[in-house]
Amino acid sequence: IFQRRHYTSNMAYNPKVGDSICSLDTPSIIVDLDLMEANLASLMSSLLPTGVSIRPHLKTTKSAILARKLVAAGAKGGCVAKLSEAEVICSLGFTDLLITCEIIGATKVKRLVELFRKYRTIRIVVDSEIGASKIDEALAKSGIEEPITTLLDLDVGLHRTGVQPGEPALKLARYIAGLKHLKLIGVQGYEGHLQHEHNRGERKRACLESMATLTQTADILRKDGHNIEVVTTGGTGTAEFCVTVPGVTEVQPGSFLFMDTDYRNAIGSKYKNSLTVLSTVISKQGPKCITIDAGLKSLTTDSGFAECKTLGYTYGVLGDEHGSLSWEDGADLSVGDTVEMIPSHIDPTINLHDFYYAHRKGIIEEIWPVDARGKVQ
Ligand code: PLP
Ligand code: MN
Repeated sequence: IFQRRHYTSNMAYNPKVGDSICSLDTPSIIVDLDLMEANLASLMSSLLPTGVSIRPHLKTTKSAILARKLVAAGAKGGCVAKLSEAEVICSLGFTDLLITCEIIGATKVKRLVELFRKYRTIRIVVDSEIGASKIDEALAKSGIEEPITTLLDLDVGLHRTGVQPGEPALKLARYIAGLKHLKLIGVQGYEGHLQHEHNRGERKRACLESMATLTQTADILRKDGHNIEVVTTGGTGTAEFCVTVPGVTEVQPGSFLFMDTDYRNAIGSKYKNSLTVLSTVISKQGPKCITIDAGLKSLTTDSGFAECKTLGYTYGVLGDEHGSLSWEDGADLSVGDTVEMIPSHIDPTINLHDFYYAHRKGIIEEIWPVDARGKVQ
């Protein structure tokens, strides 16, 4: 994949380890390894001593190499959002994966069965009887004896997916328990609506409320005879609170590795912005207003505009391929200069790029493919 993506289009461009980031073509995503490693060390040193497992969400990095780095630092497996991400990451040898989105539809279920045939370590979530029954039926037909490890997905306030707590959760757990090809081992309850709550006190309070719903539901299911070993939850904004709650066994932070401006504005700079989009000034037709080569196809805007790492410049989108930088006083840029842009929302921005160029003090140390780029199914 690495060679094909690089060489077929242009043999003249061949970035290598040891090169300066100045030699990279733009736009490119670059990672400051010192900052990324500090983020990783900070998360691990604060969360690991609690004994709660860390299963980072790979929806952010979409990279098997980074999954391995996370495990080397103390993580236990990983999460992916989508089945097609799991297909890619498993094929690269990283197979301890929880797929955190429901797998619905005949085509996807068929893909799931074939993935499970190869990799018995994958875990799934379900939030409906119909969803669970379709997977059970397909596995029954497949001839695979072993049941698939399953978590009941619970709505702890996000109102996105997840069965409602209380009676509906109990009813679904009983239903799953009656299926031969699904083995219920736990509960997932993701409080995504709280990750970007700016007020730390409120974030903590609401998170503990969601955790109470989650752990109480786990207890209700246990009392009903279900074996609930895994209680998984949390993201970058809440993991520090989740791990303090007895009964939570696993957290799923993803963005902390690279961060973005939206997260930094919400939770502060405990984790640093370690990933930027390197971009070039390509036109300057008047004073104090220039055009760079990063637009909607290299920086997402759903969470506001990216920020220029060099203070004082304000970014605006000029279209698919172009952005503007404007400034007040005392600064200037020339055609050909490069700037580093800090993404406003890290996960979908990474999904726009083929490779990460990881550098230390400007020298490329590693090049990582965005393996699951475009894998949205
Ligand atoms: N878990 C689930 C189910 C998610 O959907 C997400 C992100 O959307 C995460 C964990 C990780 O969150 P973050 O990237 O905010 O750390
Ligand atoms: Mn996100």
